[in-house]
Amino acid sequence: MQKGSLAVLSKAASLGAGEVAGVIAGSGVEPLAAQAGAHGAATVYVADDPRLEAPLPQPRVDVLAQLVEEQGFETVLLAQSILASDVAAGLAARLEAGLNWQLTDIAADGDALVGKQSALGDSVVVDVGWRATPRIGLFRAGALDPVEQPAAGAVEHLEVQLREHSLAAEMVEQAHAEQTGPSIEDADVIVAGGRGLGEPEKFALVEELAKALGGAVAATRAVVDAGWYPYSAQVGQTGKSVSPTLYIACGISGAIQHKVGMQSSKTIVAINKDPNAPIFEFADLGVVGDLHTIVPKLTELVQARRA
Ligand SMILES: Cc1cc2nc3c(=O)[nH]c(=O)nc-3n(C[C@H](O)[C@H](O)[C@H](O)COP(=O)(O)OP(=O)(O)OC[C@H]3O[C@@H](n4cnc5c(N)ncnc54)[C@H](O)[C@@H]3O)c2cc1C
Repeated sequence: MQKGSLAVLSKAASLGAGEVAGVIAGSGVEPLAAQAGAHGAATVYVADDPRLEAPLPQPRVDVLAQLVEEQGFETVLLAQSILASDVAAGLAARLEAGLNWQLTDIAADGDALVGKQSALGDSVVVDVGWRATPRIGLFRAGALDPVEQPAAGAVEHLEVQLREHSLAAEMVEQAHAEQTGPSIEDADVIVAGGRGLGEPEKFALVEELAKALGGAVAATRAVVDAGWYPYSAQVGQTGKSVSPTLYIACGISGAIQHKVGMQSSKTIVAINKDPNAPIFEFADLGVVGDLHTIVPKLTELVQARRA
């Protein structure tokens, strides 16, 4: 299971707001049930069906809606991904349920649940709630860490019943970008490149440093829009939110729209030739200088230390 899903599951189990179940929907997914049990699921519902192999939302909406209607679950929590966002929206429409998204935390308050949501470009944290059940919550990527808490993890197989319209969409092709290291959602270390790299080929500098540190590569929207790096690596308001242990920003000015996606990183290191770049206002460590000199040297030092 994905780290984000396990994190949301263990958070739900820690609330003490009733029994928590995990749901696994896909094809050939039964072996994942044990992980859900180890992270707080008293029951693990497994919808294992070849029709769930493609990452399409509507069949998953059917599975979850059926569970909520038959078992009377009051709350459905998901970890954000492109697929989970589609599923959450579809489920909210199907169940006429309230959906709070971009949650960073959740707490029980008597019978109610109160979510924490960043607002106004992450400058404030607001409390959000639900007026009725079922409640649906979508957690921001990287907001929570999984915590092991063994529970019964009793597996229940679901008989998957799909609506006709849910099978109308078909996945005709799936291409995976080649990836050797961790994804930016899961990485402990992220090395990010911005327009200061000067040209797309210079992303090799960022990739080599990321490889030496066992981390992942991220990018700003400026370079993604310019076609220097894929959109899947974009961090920020219109990209992904990440919170690694270490975020190294190379040639990134630190615009607010980038900041909101990475400011919860534990340590931020910025390399920028402009001492007045906004990123230095929130970086933990700043290096003023030319990244083309500094980054290769840093990579060399990391490689030497690792050897
Ligand atoms: C609605 C909206 C949504 C947006 N969403 C996002 C988003 O999700 N993510 C995002 O990143 N942006 C987003 N943006 C864009 C954002 O406003 C900035 O334009 C963008 O983040 C800037 O990218 P950058 O830092 O790579 O480039 P720049 O702002 O051009 O900064 C480049 C930096 O590199 C430094 N530099 C140049 N040469 C060198 C060198 N040789 N060595 C070291 N440093 C050097 C410069 O001093 C400069 O600070 C959004 C904008 C809007 C309006």
